[in-house]
Amino acid sequence: MMKIGILDLQGDVSEHQLMTEKAVTRMNLKADVLKVKTASEVADCNGIVISGGESTVIGRLIKENNIDTVIKENQIPVLGTCAGMVLLGQQTDYEQPLLGLIPMKVKRNGFGRQKLSFEAKLKLKTMEDPYPGVFIRAPYALDVKEEAVVLGQIHDKIIAVAYKNHLATAFHPELTGDTRIHEYFIKEVLNCVE
Ligand code: GLN
Repeated sequence: MMKIGILDLQGDVSEHQLMTEKAVTRMNLKADVLKVKTASEVADCNGIVISGGESTVIGRLIKENNIDTVIKENQIPVLGTCAGMVLLGQQTDYEQPLLGLIPMKVKRNGFGRQKLSFEAKLKLKTMEDPYPGVFIRAPYALDVKEEAVVLGQIHDKIIAVAYKNHLATAFHPELTGDTRIHEYFIKEVLNCVE
């Protein structure tokens, strides 16, 4: 059975678990959606979700637990939201461990003090109707390489990127009732399983 792991090191993990379960049900699939902490638990998954939180903390724990090695060796698709997007990037404006799975740079807290948190209706590629974006001290992506796909922008800032079977969003899809981002990711995971 397909297994999707919600990386449980720090951040809003339970919300992602609920939304992933909801997406699985809506898609009429069967999958185990479980919280994972160790390299061997991660290695057992077909897809990994990295939540929002503090990317410095999550990144350090990923390295300490050798989770980066396992994700790369097994080519496990990753959905990274907010802090998770930071970790999927190859470079940021801080010294911090990153996964670097998507060829892009990331600017942390990229929307400035005035816009620490806000909501916006997003026009995303591959989605007909606008997606309710919840931004909390959100990053944005820059210098996205040609081989990756920019899925959306707001105020000229890139807030969703897909590359291979990985997906990064600057916003928090787990804090909405809208499962379309999770469904998109599950489709990517299925492409790898089949
Ligand atoms: N600003 C945080 C970081 O860069 C991300 C915030 C969030 O995940 N809500 O780690």
